[in-house]
Amino acid sequence: MEFRKSNSLFNRALKVIPSGSYGHTSPVGSLPTHFPKFAERGSGYKFWDVDGNEWIDFMCGYGTVIHGYAEPSIEHAVRELRADGNIFNHPHSVIVDLAERLTEEIDFAQWVVFAKNGSDLTTWSIRVARESTKKPLIIKAYNSYHGVDAWCDPGLGGRVASDRAEILQFKWNDLNQFEELFRKHGDQIAGVILTPYHHPSFAPSEMPNSDFWSTISQVCDKHGAVLILDDVRAGWRLDCGGSHRYFGFVPDLAVYSKALGNGYSISACVGKAKLKNAASEVFLTGSCWNDSSAMVAALQSLKLSTEKNVARSVLDKGKIFCEGLEMAARKYDFEFYMTGPTSMPYPWFQGDEDLYLIQKFCEIAASEGLFYHPHHNWFISDAHSRESLRSAVSETEKVFCRLREFI
Ligand code: PMP
Repeated sequence: MEFRKSNSLFNRALKVIPSGSYGHTSPVGSLPTHFPKFAERGSGYKFWDVDGNEWIDFMCGYGTVIHGYAEPSIEHAVRELRADGNIFNHPHSVIVDLAERLTEEIDFAQWVVFAKNGSDLTTWSIRVARESTKKPLIIKAYNSYHGVDAWCDPGLGGRVASDRAEILQFKWNDLNQFEELFRKHGDQIAGVILTPYHHPSFAPSEMPNSDFWSTISQVCDKHGAVLILDDVRAGWRLDCGGSHRYFGFVPDLAVYSKALGNGYSISACVGKAKLKNAASEVFLTGSCWNDSSAMVAALQSLKLSTEKNVARSVLDKGKIFCEGLEMAARKYDFEFYMTGPTSMPYPWFQGDEDLYLIQKFCEIAASEGLFYHPHHNWFISDAHSRESLRSAVSETEKVFCRLREFI
């Protein structure tokens, strides 16, 4: 496989873009050397890079694409609307349609606001918690990702101590630690922000223990702290009505993005009625937030998700894939696990703390046209057919075979 154009574009990018490419797409962040760096087009579960290489994709635009790339009915809805312009001085009527639809589909949601990215609204949501409680402290889990803002980003650059002075952390699933934070600071805690399950980068995913969500909810209720569900990554991959339903609890606020717009930039925060006044007190706007194309894409994407029960579908398809891969690995004596939910699994070789095996695995897979990521969870889309997944499993069996020869 050739990456001539990718590499030459990257060299140009290095001159005009800091690091050439940032965040998880940066090749500096321990991606295999032979990996595409720029994409050109996508269709269903495949994409093509700038060198014309075809990829069977397991990242789905880092989770943003749930119905497949360039899903025809979504693209059609966007084209129709965009023919008359996209952003105006006022919101387009589609914002109300979308808000109504979301409040119908998410059981506890009585209002909703929209922005462009997950970070816009995770940060806004903690301010709503502070506004409503008039308290300063926010609790999160260690190594959780909630976005690029200084209170939570995983980097160190440009940070000052005060950025996190009011953020407390506990180890996921350690309820004693969580309760201890409330014992010490209970009268100062505004809210708790958590993902539905723990999906740190560079480490296996961890599901909540059976008493996790009931305890978190009870403690928040007891102390009047706002429970915020960061469903940016898992939304529509566990339950079409929000991931809280999968785990059987009810948050006060929930933030969605990724799969909401099937690749169009949109995020949403929904909330209970009791937080509506506080929500209207926390300033919220953005230059391109009235992007009506993204809203109509989200509306059509939601329609498809409900019609096809997309969360059930990607969980079931993912099960075929995950079980297949684990079995293929065992044939070559690898202790390999697909951790987390089957619709968005994180691959883990037992004992591979330095990520050497997974890195080599992804590099070999890339030479077979399989796009797997070495330190971020993968994603299944509804465009993956059962047959395509079975065929990916047999291709991956060859990857395990070559990996065994290599080490
Ligand atoms: N929360 C979670 C759980 C996420 O996975 C992400 C994005 N990876 C964010 C928040 C931030 O979203 P965005 O990148 O759209 O700002």
